[in-house]
Amino acid sequence: MIAERLPEHVDVAIVGGGPVGALLALRLADAGINALAIEARVTTPADPRALALSHASAEALGRVGLWGDDPSATAITRVHVSQAGTLGRTELSSTEIGLPALGYVVPYRALAGLALDRLKAGKAAVALGTTVTGVDRLARYARLSLATPHGRRQLTASLVVLADGGQLLAGFDDVKQTVKPYAQHAILATITPTEPHLGVAFERFADDGPLALLPNGDDYTLVWTQTPAGAEEKLALSDAEFIAQVSARFAGRIAGFTRVGARAGWPLALKTLDSVVGRRVVMIGNAAQTLHPVAGQGLNLGLRDATTLADLLSITPAAQLGEAATLARYAALRRQDAGRVTRFTDGLIGWFDNPNPLLKHARSAGLLALDQIGPLRRGFARKMVYGAR
Ligand SMILES: Cc1cc2nc3c(=O)[nH]c(=O)nc-3n(C[C@H](O)[C@H](O)[C@H](O)COP(=O)(O)OP(=O)(O)OC[C@H]3O[C@@H](n4cnc5c(N)ncnc54)[C@H](O)[C@@H]3O)c2cc1C
Repeated sequence: MIAERLPEHVDVAIVGGGPVGALLALRLADAGINALAIEARVTTPADPRALALSHASAEALGRVGLWGDDPSATAITRVHVSQAGTLGRTELSSTEIGLPALGYVVPYRALAGLALDRLKAGKAAVALGTTVTGVDRLARYARLSLATPHGRRQLTASLVVLADGGQLLAGFDDVKQTVKPYAQHAILATITPTEPHLGVAFERFADDGPLALLPNGDDYTLVWTQTPAGAEEKLALSDAEFIAQVSARFAGRIAGFTRVGARAGWPLALKTLDSVVGRRVVMIGNAAQTLHPVAGQGLNLGLRDATTLADLLSITPAAQLGEAATLARYAALRRQDAGRVTRFTDGLIGWFDNPNPLLKHARSAGLLALDQIGPLRRGFARKMVYGAR
């Protein structure tokens, strides 16, 4: 949609056309709801993240054309989890639960690019290159201030959905965000294995922080959690030194690596809200909760936010879309899933980040037990496939 011709009022205004906002916008368009997505970007972002997505997420994206025979997606056939310096290890396999893949890895920029393309294709109403600069919420509607390529504009909406990653939250007096910094940074890098990865992902808990290797095309995307000082040191290493350090942590598990691409550091924090709804507003995706990437759950959870909200709004009369009762119903529907995944992810950091030698043995025993007890292991694998609900 050309911003010059923006409507004066919409039933639902979605701030942010990232993967989560785009899924919601396309689902609401299918349901015939008068919605508008407002996205600051016009082109695909340069973003080094690779996202591990569950089957359920791929299905939800596929329903609106955001997933298909996607050449940029790499299937995960096995996940190997181990703790350095102990015998603790387990392996989850797709064949064990009768599926072709445990999940998929897709570059963030490919998914965000596809989201932009689908929005540009005109299936859902969208204002691209348009930034929401403020939201005033009144009793019966909200007024949004926009910076468009054609100047400043305003429009009103019965309901505002924040899918902006949390950028606008500070302006909401009835929404309280809690930030728990982890004093950790994620180092992201593309790293090429000596031998084909065969779709095997690795999660390795080393003494100085966990490392994840996600199969991504012919390469791996490395996500290495470090203290801020550790991250600074690793980012400054030569390529050869960096490869040597990663190889040492995967000794005995992976033959080696031939090259590493550009490295980027990412500060990590847990951000949660007292409530994911406020007056005439709902927060979804990273605006509702920002998690540590260790378990690869953030986007999977955000896509379930969008799916649940789309299902609910599709059966809600237009006059009730922004009403407190509708929003309370949404918050109730999401509480359990979001709470569980947030606690699981945060707990994993506390559990594996503790240097106590007794805990190290307990962790090792836990991984071995998971490896030995078939039903437990298969149950865990199914949770990965269908979402950690
Ligand atoms: C290192 C790392 C690894 C990760 N790995 C995984 C993984 O393996 N699996 C997984 O499930 N999750 C993972 N995540 C989490 C995942 O990246 C996020 O959960 C996901 O990107 C959130 O999507 P979103 O659409 O809510 O927000 P975003 O992706 O942040 O999109 C927000 C959109 O809103 C737009 N916007 C912002 N402000 C405005 C405004 N004022 N006006 C208009 N538009 C605006 C932006 O341009 C953007 O397009 C990882 C995160 C990190 C940091």
